[in-house]
Amino acid sequence: MFDRRFRLFVRLRSPGFDPGNCLSCSQATGAFMYDAIVVGARISGASVALLLARLGHRVLLVDRARFPSPTSSSTNLIHPPGVHRLREWGVLDRLDGHSIPRITRYRLQSGPVGMEAPLPAVDDVDYALSPPRLALDEALVRCAVDAGVELREETSVQELLRDEDGTVVGVRGTTKGSGRFSERASVVIGADGKNSKVAQLVGAAKYRDQPVLSKSLWTYWDGLPQPSLVRTYRKNRRHPFTWPTHDGLTIVGVAWPTEDFPSPGSDEATDRTVVAALADVDPEFAEQVRDTGRADRWLTGSVPNFLRTPAGPGWALVGDASATRDPITASGITYAVTGGEILAEAVHEGLSGRIPMARALAAYARRRDRLVIDHYDYTRDYARIADHTPEERALIEAMSRSPWHARDMIGLFATVVPPADFYSRANFRALFDYLDDENGLPPKIRLLRWLLHGVPGRPAAPAGLADRLVAASLGPMGDLMLRSARP
Ligand SMILES: Cc1cc2nc3c(=O)[nH]c(=O)nc-3n(C[C@H](O)[C@H](O)[C@H](O)COP(=O)(O)OP(=O)(O)OC[C@H]3O[C@@H](n4cnc5c(N)ncnc54)[C@H](O)[C@@H]3O)c2cc1C
Repeated sequence: MFDRRFRLFVRLRSPGFDPGNCLSCSQATGAFMYDAIVVGARISGASVALLLARLGHRVLLVDRARFPSPTSSSTNLIHPPGVHRLREWGVLDRLDGHSIPRITRYRLQSGPVGMEAPLPAVDDVDYALSPPRLALDEALVRCAVDAGVELREETSVQELLRDEDGTVVGVRGTTKGSGRFSERASVVIGADGKNSKVAQLVGAAKYRDQPVLSKSLWTYWDGLPQPSLVRTYRKNRRHPFTWPTHDGLTIVGVAWPTEDFPSPGSDEATDRTVVAALADVDPEFAEQVRDTGRADRWLTGSVPNFLRTPAGPGWALVGDASATRDPITASGITYAVTGGEILAEAVHEGLSGRIPMARALAAYARRRDRLVIDHYDYTRDYARIADHTPEERALIEAMSRSPWHARDMIGLFATVVPPADFYSRANFRALFDYLDDENGLPPKIRLLRWLLHGVPGRPAAPAGLADRLVAASLGPMGDLMLRSARP
């Protein structure tokens, strides 16, 4: 089937070929056949559409919204892998009208212990950004249109077209003002968010799923000092966070485990709840917040966690449609951008005939897994907002004394360092050298160190046993350490 469609595609794109004169084409394609139809025109959809168009493909991009269009909720931090791509694609140039400071360091404070490090670079991009979402979505969609993408706004996809063997070959839906339409393409891409209609229509299975784990309240603050820093805190099952965003504003918020989320009150009552949570972790910052002004109403948001089968015959999912995770690691936008890139590369392989489309989409599915699964597991674990155990705090303290461990930990959070590289046996063995004896160590950590390195006169425990015991003290991330192929 793919070969038949590919031959058709090649003929459609051949110089001098007129689709209007081809009976089989008009039967197969209706009035016009696209190379790709992308459903959903925000971060993931506009990214994949833009890249496919730049590779010379005919792309139809549809969205229910009319742009510029506000999103329901997002705090908009973009880690270096996302910033790097958006800069390369020329999207950041379109945000010129805003002042968006570079954020070069992240800090994690867990009760009395803290760790801060510069962001590892992706090429020369060693900073994060937090642009206004309205402007970012608009910039991406306009870049896509400039690249040749056909954008249809206020257009909703309701059905998929399939050929006789079930392969998806197009979409059917409605456009506001002009009624029902159907369009055909070599591939249909669902970039339509967590409640993806495309995923529902193809029956893409959900797995590794977990209900909503955390809920947050946040808003923008005016007049705060703006260090080039993302600060996150963890104490008493609360997760306060803050970073500079755009035009002099600073985001200030707190996340709770779902079951502890405070019942909604007035904005003034929420001010008090949030300032109290900040005072518990960073009294100086809480004082600054008290002395300055809230620039917006309080916002709230939460999402469940799941992966979906990312591709099948004639279709693929990207962004939140393919993987939705708790916002606690602020990684959805970055993965929507990187996911858009790997999907565009795969679809291009299929469209250009280098490999059959079915194989190209299967390769995308495997790459998507390699890209997201470990960080997805890390995010799910982090989103429980459990206080760190004394053993974990001792390890955080050790990281604060080892610059490269701290940098890798920050890189892990920021999707730069693969979790399997950080949670490797070698990394943790080395980390034990930085434990701080001066301040006393939890007995279990002392024991683990003896097992890893031995005590004078006694040999270390066999490496496998010691590693398993270290992994056991890392909670769910210990599984990652044990499944990490690296020694
Ligand atoms: C509280 C909260 C805070 C967050 N903070 C951050 C953060 O700081 N950093 C970060 O990286 N990520 C954050 N995220 C996650 C991030 O917002 C998402 O991962 C990202 O927006 C996903 O983009 P997307 O393009 O895949 O999907 P979406 O942004 O959901 O876009 C989907 C589009 O599809 C369209 N659509 C849907 N169905 C149809 C249909 N049938 N026909 C036509 N169009 C359709 C919709 O109109 C929409 O425009 C946060 C999320 C939440 C909930």
